[in-house]
Amino acid sequence: MATLSLQHIDKIYDNNVQAVFDFNLEVKDGELIVLVGPSGCGKSTTLRMVAGLEDISNGHLLLDGKDITQAPAKDRDMAMVFQNYALYGHMTVYENMAFSLTMRKEDPNVIHKKVLAAAEILNLTTQLNKKPSQLSGGQRQRVAMGRSIVRTPKVFLFDEPLSNLDAKLRGSTRREILLLHKRLKATMLYVTHDQTEALTLADRIVCMSMGHVQQVGTPLELYDTPANLFVAGFIGLPPMNFFDVTVKGGALVGKGMTVKLSEDQKNTLRSYEGKTIVLGVRPENIVLGDDVTIKVTSNENLGMNTLVHGNIKGGDKITGKLRGWCDYKNGDEVKVSFDRMHFFDKETTNAIRGEV
Ligand code: ADP
Repeated sequence: MATLSLQHIDKIYDNNVQAVFDFNLEVKDGELIVLVGPSGCGKSTTLRMVAGLEDISNGHLLLDGKDITQAPAKDRDMAMVFQNYALYGHMTVYENMAFSLTMRKEDPNVIHKKVLAAAEILNLTTQLNKKPSQLSGGQRQRVAMGRSIVRTPKVFLFDEPLSNLDAKLRGSTRREILLLHKRLKATMLYVTHDQTEALTLADRIVCMSMGHVQQVGTPLELYDTPANLFVAGFIGLPPMNFFDVTVKGGALVGKGMTVKLSEDQKNTLRSYEGKTIVLGVRPENIVLGDDVTIKVTSNENLGMNTLVHGNIKGGDKITGKLRGWCDYKNGDEVKVSFDRMHFFDKETTNAIRGEV
């Protein structure tokens, strides 16, 4: 059982750089939370404050209701898995996994059982006598996880654990972490800059930008109802297309496009009549139709889909992800419609709610 409560947490480094502003989050028991955002947005700083590796400048951190804001790292009962694995090169896999328990002077029979059980979960049983240098990157990452598992910590912390792996291994190790989470039912905090990892792993995502939490929600909530332009542009690949458009008499009018609004959409945008807003359209919501003409610049076949890059005739750049195998050539014109639209206030950058 482990719940975490992060209350109004700030981080101001000694050089007066404020890396984290008023971070609030209630992590439920057994929840896998992914902190995601671009490099430098304050994810690792937040994780390190939870681990006790960085001081918390303001605010409070509670573990199972107990204030641990000032507690030293070693007393927090958390285990961290780092990007660079941090394994001891001169020790075997077995010794690496047993190390923290040996240091705690646990009964050797108990240590043996715990290491074998973790090795079994992580498919490392046949590797126990090897040194880290004899293992693949993926296996080393599993040893690093094993070292955490044997300690049965209250909370697992992961700092970009997959970023040193190649694309294929990243995918399989990601699935292993997901299985591990299901099996251990442990509370986990996971940091990554990769929105795909966030979408595929998280129970809930915390999306950050420049030290500020932008949105907290399930992967589907962030994908389907992004709170603002930042989240809309960060979650989803290829990223959402954005266009400045004016709300005019039941339609959106922009450079090279006039898109009719449904009754619901008209209601949502009622107070924006005559104003310029930002229209967001995900590439996968662009379908063959008759509202907008794209002048194609390039065509990328992905197998099941085709990415069509170009410009709206007389307007801005656009990328569409069309179903099936298309063979458009540079200069071709394709007529499309948008089957889902997102609207954002141009000044606040917040989503205008109620979109359909
Ligand atoms: P992320 O993990 O999202 O890439 P970090 O938490 O590492 O971001 O960094 C957030 C901000 O804090 C960045 O501007 C970074 O330069 C700054 N920062 C990180 N560590 C320190 C430090 N030890 N001293 C001063 N500034 C730091």
